[in-house]
Amino acid sequence: MAVLVLTHPQPPQPFVEELRRLMPGEEFFMDVEAALAHANNVEAILLWRLSPGMLDAFPSIKFLAASAAGVDKIIGPAMPPSLPLTRTVDVQQNQQIAQYVCAMVLRHVRQQALYDAQQRDKVWRRHPIPSPSSVTVGLMGLGESGQVVAAALLALGFNVCGWSRSPKKIPSVESFSGSAGLLSMVGRCQVLVCLLPLTPETTSVVNANLLAKLPRGAFFINVARGLHVVEQDLAQALQSGQLAGAALDVQGREPMPTDDPLWAVPNLLITPHVASLPSAKAVASQLAENLLRARRGEPLLHLVDTRIGY
Ligand code: NDP
Repeated sequence: MAVLVLTHPQPPQPFVEELRRLMPGEEFFMDVEAALAHANNVEAILLWRLSPGMLDAFPSIKFLAASAAGVDKIIGPAMPPSLPLTRTVDVQQNQQIAQYVCAMVLRHVRQQALYDAQQRDKVWRRHPIPSPSSVTVGLMGLGESGQVVAAALLALGFNVCGWSRSPKKIPSVESFSGSAGLLSMVGRCQVLVCLLPLTPETTSVVNANLLAKLPRGAFFINVARGLHVVEQDLAQALQSGQLAGAALDVQGREPMPTDDPLWAVPNLLITPHVASLPSAKAVASQLAENLLRARRGEPLLHLVDTRIGY
């Protein structure tokens, strides 16, 4: 039997190498054209994005496997409601996200931009250092990545709270849910971090109304998807000083074109969607396990609820 590997924009070769190592007897195709000649054999597709009509040619598909943690480029009109969809859950990827978030939180809290400027001007001047517990970091999303981020921030001594659809019981993390919960959490956060999946409910959730609820001079970090943020509202909050700064690893338009107005926004750090990458090893081992499970008729690992979108 066969698997179609369409991990673009990541090259498929590292995934296929790992898959061949784990499943030497199987066939792997790296483009649709090549797979079409063996269409009846294709049991699963490893993918980042689902194009309209792509599934029509493959009548034996048992499930789709997202090569990423997010599935927003797969769920949509092209996705049959009855077809199982799995996503990647990789502990090391979540640790990379935690590193990115901690780096940005520390850069803000330890005033690194100020010290960079002082060094340029040859100024040797100390400023007060806030006690870690006086800084509250609010996490929008307390799932696989959110919980690893929470643990890393707690280890640095910060006060951590989190917002999720269902209330959570995580030691030392105050839990909020519902729209009223989000607004009350945000009111006490010196740093707000977005770790949500992109769904109709979470699109544009970071807007002027939410940003206005943050204490003045707060910092915002987005490591989820660009469309959670109304970028014009974020730019305005930065220009007015409501936000002291922000870090966007993800943007509404990726790759960001050179004329994107975000490039010129003051105190905004931009990175090209590099907070983390799932490892080919983790993706392949999860797919290999799920292929066996699908053949045995057992429940798949990391199934997505396609009705709610994550
Ligand atoms: P999970 O599905 O494990 O967690 C999602 C969290 O968001 C859960 O706590 C969930 O609540 C909460 N949530 C979902 N919808 C709502 C809502 N409407 N209101 C409040 N809370 C909500 O996802 P991951 O942590 O694995 O990943 C999150 C996202 O991060 C991915 O979807 C992806 O888009 C992005 N990502 C970005 C990367 C990067 O490199 N920049 C890398 C990896 C992921 P509940 O717990 O109640 O279900």
